[in-house]
Amino acid sequence: MAHPTDDRNYRLPRHVRPTAYDTMISVDMAAGRFAGTLRIDLDVDEPSAEIVLHAVGLDVARVRLRTGGAELDPASISAAPASETLVLRFGAPIPRGRASLELGWTGRLTDGLRGLYPAGDGIAATQFEAADARRVFPCFDEPGFKAPWRLAVEAPAGVTVLSNAVPQSEENLGDRQRVRFAETPPLPTYLVALVLGKLVAHSPVSVRGVPVRTFAQAAKLSLTGFGQGVAVEVLPRLEDYFGVPYAFGKLDQVGLPEFEAGAMENAGLVTYREVALLLDPATASLAQKKRVAEVVTHELAHMWFGNWVTMTWWDDLWLNEAFATWMAFKIVDRWNPAWRVWLEFDQGKAAAMHLDALRSTHPVRAEIHNVAEAGEAFDLITYEKGGAVLRMIEGYLGEEPFREGIRAYMRRHGKGNAVADDLWRALGEASREPVVELANGWIGAPGFPVVEVSRAGRTLRLSQRRFLSDPDAGDDASTWPVPIVLRVGAGGRTAEQRVLLRERQAELQLAVEGEPEFVVVNAGSTGFYRVRHDAAGLAALVRALPKLETAERIALLSDEWALVRAGKRDVASFLDLCAGFGSEDDHAVLDELVGRLALVEHRLVADADRPALAAFVARLLAPQLAATGWDAAPSEPDVQRLRRAAAVRALGIVAREPATIGEARARLDRWIAGDRGALEPNLHDAAVTIAARGGDATRFDAFRALHLVETEPTFRRRWLLALATFEAPPLAARAVDLAFGDEVPLQDTASFAATLLGNRTAREPFWARLRRDWSAYHSRLRAAPMLLRRVVESMGALVERRHLEEVEAFLAAHPVEEARQAIAQTVERMRQDVALRERTQRAIGDWLRTR
Ligand SMILES: [Zn+2]
Repeated sequence: MAHPTDDRNYRLPRHVRPTAYDTMISVDMAAGRFAGTLRIDLDVDEPSAEIVLHAVGLDVARVRLRTGGAELDPASISAAPASETLVLRFGAPIPRGRASLELGWTGRLTDGLRGLYPAGDGIAATQFEAADARRVFPCFDEPGFKAPWRLAVEAPAGVTVLSNAVPQSEENLGDRQRVRFAETPPLPTYLVALVLGKLVAHSPVSVRGVPVRTFAQAAKLSLTGFGQGVAVEVLPRLEDYFGVPYAFGKLDQVGLPEFEAGAMENAGLVTYREVALLLDPATASLAQKKRVAEVVTHELAHMWFGNWVTMTWWDDLWLNEAFATWMAFKIVDRWNPAWRVWLEFDQGKAAAMHLDALRSTHPVRAEIHNVAEAGEAFDLITYEKGGAVLRMIEGYLGEEPFREGIRAYMRRHGKGNAVADDLWRALGEASREPVVELANGWIGAPGFPVVEVSRAGRTLRLSQRRFLSDPDAGDDASTWPVPIVLRVGAGGRTAEQRVLLRERQAELQLAVEGEPEFVVVNAGSTGFYRVRHDAAGLAALVRALPKLETAERIALLSDEWALVRAGKRDVASFLDLCAGFGSEDDHAVLDELVGRLALVEHRLVADADRPALAAFVARLLAPQLAATGWDAAPSEPDVQRLRRAAAVRALGIVAREPATIGEARARLDRWIAGDRGALEPNLHDAAVTIAARGGDATRFDAFRALHLVETEPTFRRRWLLALATFEAPPLAARAVDLAFGDEVPLQDTASFAATLLGNRTAREPFWARLRRDWSAYHSRLRAAPMLLRRVVESMGALVERRHLEEVEAFLAAHPVEEARQAIAQTVERMRQDVALRERTQRAIGDWLRTR
């Protein structure tokens, strides 16, 4: 009979548990090798002749077990590749009680972005989540096994060595150094971290006694101030929210030149992709600043939610991520309400709804059998839908009871593990509300409802059904407990009313006097559902547009567009709605509008109708740019700057309006020549795209040179992606070549591919080459599965039926094991997009001709 470790779904037995790790690792960065020794203290609950722990790619040379004064060598050591474990068999059962296991091994830095890997320019860093600690240490690599770690590191002299805890001693060994770190609080293996390399930071800032530092390469030290400032601002706010002091003694943040995800919340040592941490406040766009603030706060929220209280198994990964996502927006909004970050949260929610309207979506809480599935679970459903559901629950319970529940959960499970039901119980006790029903209704089932609304006088009829974006999806009997917040305008006033819609249909009386003027069903857009008004209800909302909140106007556009996709609304009616937004002055609503029009331009309109669409967009949005002008006074408020940026995107990128293109290009050239006042920071990104599209070989070479010398990470990435934006065929061909070479950093490969697939002239040659050279391309990305999934998803940017057939045939012939879910979703979405194009193209042309 096969040993159970031959199953990839194998989980470690619970009767042998680590209680402490004490390890020394010696890293030879030049040779890309390391050697380690480790003592793991164990509690053995049942006698057993076998110990199983994780290890992969490690050469384990020495194993010894000490128990009750005896020393035992294993009779056999065997590796089980399917489960990435090491099975140690002893001649006799190990007795119940305490034991300690000593191991010695060697290993190599990986060539991907996980385990211990080269993170650029002589830096080595670890990335262990979900399950890559086993590539560096033999260990019990599941989140349910928490234990304190004592780590020592030998490294070349002169490099900075960072880990989770503060250094306790530093020894000089000539051309080597040895750093011993203090013992950590109990940690799951995925939060252990190590960073070595030439990295520098300003002096620490003490926040209630916790030293906070932000590291970068020396040339980027001047870019660390903003991210450091965010950490210093939000750390005390998080402490106050959770009612538990920060547990990890010190906080270091590090920007790494090569990094797969956005950031990683290692206890006391957060690692970031450079664009998510480093910026120059003088030249950064507001979007960049908000993104850094949100990412830093997200990671620090994990120091409590995830690190102090840890999920028992990966099936609750969603709760970890959903909570940090929601919490980041909550804390940043408190710190800086003028930023209106909940509107960005809504953008993430909209993207999650787009995905969740597919048959191939999954419940927020998915069954996770193994590590590969845990990796695939890092998606929009986990983060954004999960966060939106928490926001909806908080909105329903109230802010205070919700926070009290969170605090009770932190007190009860601190240093340990917990499951989602522990959280619902704590929230239920604090609020005396049916939290379990509400939460499980939303996280246990895939998808979400559309609430259909009609009204006769003060009687409002609501019904719910599952929302699927496939027009032929048929009916689905699912229902949700939908916490509905109504905002009713009547007699010049508005009033709020709440109802929990449990059944398929309900009727209620609006508690207002006189005839209602309009009814907003998802007030403040805090609920995770779509709303479909009848014709009269929609017309009333359009008349009342200025009385709706910003988030509600955005939701109206977003819901109506989703209904077009689902075949429940005419595209002409949607374009009529867009045309009614000409006098909108809120940049966030304009962003939504421009985004939808860009999609119509990219994907739906026939080539022959493009000029008419461009003329419509230009007429609709030119007054916005006329109102703002191109130059910003130093004191100009952010809202005005962002309104200008939305207008420039609409006119220069969607409508390709010659005067806007000329002005953007001229101002960018002055900016490149050193005149930083020529281009307001929020316009830079659009100006680069505009200039690249129509640019010649001289400009291509200039942008490439800028990419190679730039140190500010966002600008560096912008110059790089601009190369994939050139539309002249010989330059598109050069960009395609770059996609297959080493000049594009591994971490940026997926974005580069997506940009090429969004480029009219580069799209075909890149797609042809990608199919031809897939095996080399795939093997470079194999060690960065998150990026591989993004490349698969970006194939969905192809627009025609022929492309759909090619993508389906290609992915069927080349199955990508790491992206099974992404493949199903991409193909399903693409089928719908292609059908949408065929269904609406003529109607769009007809509508444009009547304008
Ligand atoms: Zn996270």
